[in-house]
Amino acid sequence: MPELPEVETVVRDLRAEVEGRSVVAVPHAASSVFRYPSPEALAAALPGASFAAVRRSGKYIHCVLARDGAAEVESEALIVHLGMTGHLEVCDAAAPERPHTHLRALLDDGRELRFADARRFGRVMLGDPDALRAARLIPALGVEPLGEEFTVQRLDALLRRTTRTVKAALLDQRGVAGLRRQALTLAAGVVAGSVVEVLRIAIRNRGSTIDDYRDLWDAKGNHQEELRVYGRGGLPCLACGTVLRRTVVAGRATTYCPVCQR
Ligand SMILES: [Zn+2]
Repeated sequence: MPELPEVETVVRDLRAEVEGRSVVAVPHAASSVFRYPSPEALAAALPGASFAAVRRSGKYIHCVLARDGAAEVESEALIVHLGMTGHLEVCDAAAPERPHTHLRALLDDGRELRFADARRFGRVMLGDPDALRAARLIPALGVEPLGEEFTVQRLDALLRRTTRTVKAALLDQRGVAGLRRQALTLAAGVVAGSVVEVLRIAIRNRGSTIDDYRDLWDAKGNHQEELRVYGRGGLPCLACGTVLRRTVVAGRATTYCPVCQR
């Protein structure tokens, strides 16, 4: 499933491709991935809008829209969540449509922005992000680990509120997968620094491809080569040679070294 580094990689690539471009038509919009509005309404509303900015909000991709050449308006965005198998691409309009394509938006440079999703856990929305949050169609903003608000003090407060493990407390940050200590016993400064460092490295490596994830150009990420513990249960720890163990934390399969990660 695409996590923060994979989504950030898509956002950065998408920004370079579509910022400043406008949508001239929506040749195809269908399927259950359209959470709001209906695919028909989205297909009617999107043409004429231009992409003023592309940002990440958690694991949601926000394509902030502008209308009539006006400056960026914060009140309208095309929002995409990749779910488990969602894939965005920017390709020539004549390129063959891949299976499970749910959205095709023709851009003013003759290319198309497309969204495909075999398992349909992905989401496509169009609207005011604040209104979509109020309607609980997208989640309230949490702490952005790569933002200025992700301070040691903020994380310390979050961790002290919980008796969950660090992994449960930081569920979406793959970088701390494998840590099993109770949140209270681990210094927030250590966790904050590790989370930011690991996320930055994972983004530099263009994310991890464990199963289906592909970038805008259908290429795999490179970071899985550097994951030292994830997915290596039963194999020797790369640091000490002890056989890595598997367990379940917060409902997720977790691999850890019983020596290095006590
Ligand atoms: Zn070890």
